[in-house]
Amino acid sequence: AAMRHLPYFCRGEVVKGFGRGSKELGIPTANFSEQVVESFPSDISTGIYYGWACVGNGDVHKMVLSIGWNPFYRNIKKSVETHIIHTFKEDFYGEILSIVIIGYIRPEKNFDSLEALISAIQEDIEEAKRQLDLPEHLKLKEDNFFHLPEGKIANNH
Ligand code: ADP
Ligand code: MG
Repeated sequence: AAMRHLPYFCRGEVVKGFGRGSKELGIPTANFSEQVVESFPSDISTGIYYGWACVGNGDVHKMVLSIGWNPFYRNIKKSVETHIIHTFKEDFYGEILSIVIIGYIRPEKNFDSLEALISAIQEDIEEAKRQLDLPEHLKLKEDNFFHLPEGKIANNH
């Protein structure tokens, strides 16, 4: 069920999240709006994925993505959050984030401590980096999807 919809192409505005303090942990996550999340296949598995991401018409970077239950909506709606593996000079709220989700890393988990959570995410990031260096995954970095004129919202088309 996790892989059936992949690769999944998606584009949408970066909105304010619910302040889980991702940035304080050194792993900011760019959140998609509820509307974009609702356009996802409803049976896509929650968990951690890897793929490529690009802000506006900027460079394409490696990313890890979490599809999880959104505490803001009492866990009845999903949230989709992208951590781009790149250091940005500034926040990019309101910009258009384009992503292609390529592979699944692991299901969602609860962690006993903040340290355990952070080290799991660091392992996810290392796994994403390794996977994305494979030739078949590198190919998608060059996909025309990332070079479409801005404003063209194309969710998996
Ligand atoms: P929020 O709860 O509003 O999503 P976060 O702590 O998760 O707050 O921070 C997310 C914001 O940080 C993004 O919307 C984006 O503007 C900014 N940001 C800066 N660098 C990155 C990055 N490498 N990956 C994702 N978002 C980043
Ligand atoms: Mg976030």
